[in-house]
Amino acid sequence: MPITKDPQLNQTLAQGKPFLWANPDFDSAAKGLEHGLSMDDIHQADARLRRFAPLLTKLFPELEQAEGLIESELLAIPAMQKQQFTDLPGRLMVKGDHALPVAGSIKARGGIHEVLCHAEQLAFEQGLLRNEQDDYLKLTEADARTLFSQYEIAVSSTGNLGLSIGIISAALGFRVVVHMSVEAKQWKKERLRNRGVTVVEHSEDYSAAVAAGRAASDADPNSYFVDDENSPRLFLGYAVAALRLQQQLQQQQIAVDAEHPLFVYIPCGVGGAPGGINFGLKQVFGPHVHCFFAEPVQAPCVLMGMQATDKQHPPSVYEVGLQVDTEADGLAVSMASGWVCTVLEKLLSGVVTVSDDSLFRYLYQLWQTEGLEIEPSAAAGFNGPLQLLNSAEGQSYLQDQKLDPAMSRATHLIWTTGGLFVPAEEMQKFQQRGAALEDA
Ligand SMILES: *Cc1c(COP(=O)(O)O)cnc(C)c1O
Repeated sequence: MPITKDPQLNQTLAQGKPFLWANPDFDSAAKGLEHGLSMDDIHQADARLRRFAPLLTKLFPELEQAEGLIESELLAIPAMQKQQFTDLPGRLMVKGDHALPVAGSIKARGGIHEVLCHAEQLAFEQGLLRNEQDDYLKLTEADARTLFSQYEIAVSSTGNLGLSIGIISAALGFRVVVHMSVEAKQWKKERLRNRGVTVVEHSEDYSAAVAAGRAASDADPNSYFVDDENSPRLFLGYAVAALRLQQQLQQQQIAVDAEHPLFVYIPCGVGGAPGGINFGLKQVFGPHVHCFFAEPVQAPCVLMGMQATDKQHPPSVYEVGLQVDTEADGLAVSMASGWVCTVLEKLLSGVVTVSDDSLFRYLYQLWQTEGLEIEPSAAAGFNGPLQLLNSAEGQSYLQDQKLDPAMSRATHLIWTTGGLFVPAEEMQKFQQRGAALEDA
């Protein structure tokens, strides 16, 4: 029974060493519309987030300046580029989701969108809101809170999705249950419990926690399960990032076209967040954007899912002898979302796998050179540019796509996906570990 379609690939994966996999089914002209999602869906998600912006500002005063939009900065990182990417042609940038307000990670995008979808639907059904033009601040009043308190929102998480769903759901007045898998950090559980969220601790991995959480929620008709393995609502919330990035690139006068390709490197767990962004970016930039996901060498579940004989039922990384043994808690997933792998079939350029040591090194270097603080998972994308330029697989991707002549004008965008709420002592430990690796 083959694990992936390619026996050689199974062997390479089993070695647990970093490598670049180029997707043989990638089609630069594809937009992924055959799966029932369109640009219109992304615009609707964006419009929903804008309808809720006044309410979000009221619930989370830190959003005042951004007028209720949860967004991150697009940053050049010249000092990091000079020190660590000396020979990289083109421009190196960061999309700073490590500092996303409210949830502290990329999960703010999808998680908050899905909870707002559910709240809006309940409010329409129960007559609290008449239509989309109604005053959404009504949802902070007593009637709405009484309504929401009768319903439960449940989710399974390695940590960050739980934070996102827990924080927004509790702020709206829902009952919340977060099923945490074995990797979840203690401080993330405590942060949620302090907000009245019920945290259920599982001794198993993420895929098992999803199955357990889904079963418990399905047994209660008043419980709504945010299903990270099968959720268009999460996916579309993530995809909105593409519209926002397009605007930021324009503001900074950075072109994306045939002469100026955009390479994006996004840390990947179950696939929803990077998948939604990949889909959105393809809608916006078409053939001129190239998305690579970054997965730990011990948890390359989306890579395996993309090459599975049946994408709908992706294999687990245990099947090639890997152990999901990684400090990158946000990426510690043994089995991909089959739905996401199907949608991405022709959209994903490839995957780079990364060692834990390199996560800590890049985390430390980014802090040293640019003063940016990110969590280990969020550093995975930094391996991307050099693996693309220096590996044989990467070079043949660039050749196949006829990109070589444009590389000096390329933008390499590293998506840094989490870190804002990491306690100072924990962050120091991460940085010390990176510093020790640098000195070794
Ligand atoms: C969840 C997460 C990701 C990846 O998102 P998936 O939807 O699981 O693929 C990346 N980085 C961080 C910090 C995360 O928390």
